Amino acid sequence: MLGVMQDWDLVVTHLIDHAASGYGSREHVTHWADGSETRTTWAGVRRDALKMTQALRAAGVGKGDRVATLAMNHARHLVTWYGAVGVGGVLHTINPRLFDEQLEYIVNHAEDRVLLYDAAFQPIVDRMRDRWPSVTTYVCFDPPAGSQALAFEDWIGAFDGNTTWEKVDERDPCMLCYTSGTTGHPKGVLYEHRSTMLHAMAGVQPNIFDLDSRAVMLPIVPMFHAASWGLPWSGAISGIKFVYSAVNDPTVLCDLFEREKVTHSAGVPTVWLAMFQCLDAQGRDVRDLGALQTAVIGGSAAPRFMIERLMKNGVRVAHAWGMTETSPIGTTGAYPWNWDEMSFAEQVALVQKQGRPAFGVELRCVSLDDPNEVLPRDGVTSGALQVRGPWVIKRYFKAEEDAVDADQWFDTGDVGVLHPDGTLQLTDRTKDVIKSGGEWISSVELENAAVGHPAIAEAAAIGIAHPKWDERPILVCVAKEGHSVTPGEVLDHLGDKVAKWWLPDAVEFVDEIPHTGTGKISKKDLRERFREYRLA
Ligand code: ADP
Repeated sequence: MLGVMQDWDLVVTHLIDHAASGYGSREHVTHWADGSETRTTWAGVRRDALKMTQALRAAGVGKGDRVATLAMNHARHLVTWYGAVGVGGVLHTINPRLFDEQLEYIVNHAEDRVLLYDAAFQPIVDRMRDRWPSVTTYVCFDPPAGSQALAFEDWIGAFDGNTTWEKVDERDPCMLCYTSGTTGHPKGVLYEHRSTMLHAMAGVQPNIFDLDSRAVMLPIVPMFHAASWGLPWSGAISGIKFVYSAVNDPTVLCDLFEREKVTHSAGVPTVWLAMFQCLDAQGRDVRDLGALQTAVIGGSAAPRFMIERLMKNGVRVAHAWGMTETSPIGTTGAYPWNWDEMSFAEQVALVQKQGRPAFGVELRCVSLDDPNEVLPRDGVTSGALQVRGPWVIKRYFKAEEDAVDADQWFDTGDVGVLHPDGTLQLTDRTKDVIKSGGEWISSVELENAAVGHPAIAEAAAIGIAHPKWDERPILVCVAKEGHSVTPGEVLDHLGDKVAKWWLPDAVEFVDEIPHTGTGKISKKDLRERFREYRLA
């Protein structure tokens, strides 16, 4: 027997229809790279997305075709998200910080047909054009006066928007994001309409972004990184106001927070750090920004001082864990029922962990030595973190095999501890965890403890082969400008923060630690650099 309710395909164009009809006049503000600002509305975004759908059809783009962007955050980029899916196409957001070989690989692998880009990335387009044979149409979002480039406003301006969205199935793909690929080629994650809709519906919940139509969201997380955590989709459900900055300048961001009365924001820890530095230079604090209520931090572990400072300024910190393969929301800092009874220190300690799974996401940890051994959720035992759910990857784009086991569990490559209340605490990446004498040492915990030293700007722990212990940790540090610190002082500092047998066998100072295209420490490059290193 079947149920007898209606079929209403979970397709993402419903989102923009809903936002335009219910919250049509709610604003989108864009601060452009040249300092100018433009404003539109949800109704305006829908109208322009329909025009773009017509422009794409005229360019011969149809169902399943890939439409790529190389762009920062702005309302024309949002129009492109809905315009690309409106024609039944697949939006492919490219990270402009990737290296040329990666840019060449992913555009060819995705077989992008159209590429829309910011004027700031014109040099990338000029450099790569010949290596991107599948791209037949280039459109510039913000060409400077006198530019030969096809301007977005002119391109869509030739159409009237009098059309309808292409009919698609909820299982059809709508978006393609590549992981930065710390090993081998970047891998494509192909989201479908259904998975994107379920993820968007989860995103508005109080436990996650906590969005209603009063929210004024400034997403610092770029639209090219992990789908901007789904905000362009979930924001439409609640008809929130968006404030975008096409430049990542903390002074501009602070100014926008204040002028536009931003209530919600989301970004990786380094951007919050840059904001703090900017506020410090102005002799101000987060509270002076005026309206900020919720700060979502994720992408890498939020340090304790950051959480503390935001919370002391009356901001709710939602510490989130996820990855491109999980659309990306996996866990967020949901309040426990006894939050108000906890001391400030207890609250901070809880927020420092990575939160609890969103409804729809299941987690488990298995032994690092034996993947068949499922570990207890006892708050102590750490293991390889696995995930499954309706917005979690099954198979990479164009791969021949599934990326999950027979029970749909996807191995995240992260190492974590699950607590009895479901809270996740990440301790490392499986590739980075250090095995010493048969026991595991968390490189992340060593690094977090090290950067608590006032003279250390950045630290990375890696395992070095050892004849007796298998591996032993060494700590590679960058000293803060104008500070000097000795290895002995670093070890003294770590002494009461980690177990004695975790203490690094050596502390090395370097001018710079290598980073990946998404700004994370590249342990692979660092290990390569220390390949010949011998412990005394
Ligand atoms: P990329 O690999 O391209 O940087 P992702 O954004 O998908 O792309 O990275 C996901 C990884 O980032 C996770 O597997 C995890 O290692 C790390 N990560 C994400 N959120 C957190 C967090 N809150 N704390 C610690 N690590 C995190």
